[in-house]
Amino acid sequence: MSDCIFCKIIRKEIPKELIYESENVVVFEDIHPAADIHILIVPKKHIEGIKDLTDSDGLLLVEVYKTANKLVADNNLENDLYRVMANGGKAQHVPHLHFHLLGGQWKRTV
Ligand code: 5GP
Ligand code: ZN
Repeated sequence: MSDCIFCKIIRKEIPKELIYESENVVVFEDIHPAADIHILIVPKKHIEGIKDLTDSDGLLLVEVYKTANKLVADNNLENDLYRVMANGGKAQHVPHLHFHLLGGQWKRTV
């Protein structure tokens, strides 16, 4: 069990309106949106970052991208600008693996 901020959201210790939840992922809006649409897709498993992924996380990553596809469709982004990305190293500020879905007009870089 980790006391990182995203684990607290996942355990519902910090109230957060979830856009989507499955057995393996939660989805919620970024608190400081960097684009018109800025959604975080967060695996429930506490994996610190990309560098900590193992072969056994393959299906989890497929679910992350399938979830992103659903969110792209839900937000009518198919023919708009969108990006699904994860930060690592010093670009990553929350030490729990997560994927940003950014869509529409960018306000700043993530
Ligand atoms: P990173 O830099 O780690 O890739 O991105 C972390 C993201 O999490 C940032 O875009 C930041 O705005 C967002 N964030 C940090 N804390 C919270 C929070 O408590 N709630 C929400 N919804 N987003 C957060
Ligand atoms: Zn965590």
